[in-house]
Amino acid sequence: MDFAVSEKMQAVTGMMDDFVRKELFPLEPEFLTTDFRDLLPLLEEKRRMVRQMELWAPNHPPEYGGMGLNLMDHALVSEVLGQSPIGHYVFGCHAPDAGNIEILHKYGTEKQKIQYLKPLVEGKIRSCFSMTEVDLPGSNPILMDTTAVTDGSDYVINGQKWYSTAADGAAFAIVMAVTNPDAAPHMRASMIIVPTDNPGFNLVRNIPVMGHTGSDFASHAEILYQSCRVPRENLLGPEGWGFVIAQERLGPGRIHHCMRWLGICNRVFDLMCRRAATRVITADGNTLASRQIVQAWIAESAAEIQAARLMTLHAAWKIENLGVKEAREDISLIKFYVAGVLQRVVDRALQVHGGMGMTDDTIIAYFYRHERAARIYDGADEVHKVTVARRIIKQKVARKS
Ligand SMILES: Cc1cc2nc3c(=O)[nH]c(=O)nc-3n(C[C@H](O)[C@H](O)[C@H](O)COP(=O)(O)OP(=O)(O)OC[C@H]3O[C@@H](n4cnc5c(N)ncnc54)[C@H](O)[C@@H]3O)c2cc1C
Repeated sequence: MDFAVSEKMQAVTGMMDDFVRKELFPLEPEFLTTDFRDLLPLLEEKRRMVRQMELWAPNHPPEYGGMGLNLMDHALVSEVLGQSPIGHYVFGCHAPDAGNIEILHKYGTEKQKIQYLKPLVEGKIRSCFSMTEVDLPGSNPILMDTTAVTDGSDYVINGQKWYSTAADGAAFAIVMAVTNPDAAPHMRASMIIVPTDNPGFNLVRNIPVMGHTGSDFASHAEILYQSCRVPRENLLGPEGWGFVIAQERLGPGRIHHCMRWLGICNRVFDLMCRRAATRVITADGNTLASRQIVQAWIAESAAEIQAARLMTLHAAWKIENLGVKEAREDISLIKFYVAGVLQRVVDRALQVHGGMGMTDDTIIAYFYRHERAARIYDGADEVHKVTVARRIIKQKVARKS
């Protein structure tokens, strides 16, 4: 295993890091206090600069205007862009579009690619992914009430979804709905593309999350699909393959998330160290950094960040070299381990800043609020732990000696 970073990637991540620090960090105070929709012209200007630097859509297919980086290289990119909450958006590699692009690229028909994939990679439109339901456990989505019933050459979709991230302002949703109720549990649902201007697509509300309702890309919607009629050609991939495709979408997506979280860790760790070194806490000039408890937080954070980073790069390497299936256990391990590191490091950074940490005068409180969800989305901690533990126990029992 070789984690050496190529010269090309050193140059790419170096340019991106400069851009994030010079162009995006200064925008954050406005990002924290302004409705996201009102920021769009400013963000579009930054996106134009990124395109000019030929750094747009780093992980997306080159034939559609992306840079075509592989998973290992994009992991490094995701870490750099993760330092700012607007990094991935400005460089055109943000969730949920990133995952939707991957599956449209692999499973989309030529017509779907022209209509949806191309403008999505170009950043001309946005999309959302609509799987989780209000009344049923997202942790076990096989329990799903949303149906897509065939009627002539159409599907008619009915159901209630929520947490469809970035649905507000999106051009289309990829909806998971039961198309084959009599099939085996994992083969009942399909993915269907639903344009959001369809009369049966009703965005009920943006859900307030941690005190923030948000708008446009920075929001999570509740959606009612009411007799929502779409042509059967909007089916993405084979009928009944919804969960198969969803698993493929989640594997690399978890690498992107974990590396983004490590970018956040690096950012708040930096702030924590600087604050500790400069905050005078005694009359004779001692700083917080002179206190062993703060030193322990710094050392523990450094060790945890490094461990999490190596685990994540190792999982990415395994996906690339052996495939998602072989890397399943590693993906589950990083999903809960890195989410935990993220929360501990952000919490320590906030604590070191005292009252200042609770304000929006630094970016720490934003990360504290918004990244609590890291332990819930893309599989809650407990689900990953149970899955990993079961596999380990099975392997241990199967080994005779
Ligand atoms: C910020 C955010 C963004 C999201 N974006 C999207 C999106 O774009 N599209 C989309 O479709 N969904 C999205 N989701 C939904 C997300 O996928 C679900 O919240 C997640 O799958 C958990 O499902 P649930 O909320 O129904 O919790 P439940 O399934 O009800 O689980 C609740 C809790 O029970 C525990 N638990 C569950 N199962 C087990 C088990 N087997 N063993 C032990 N404990 C267990 C866990 O602690 C879990 O947190 C998002 C969620 C958040 C918070």
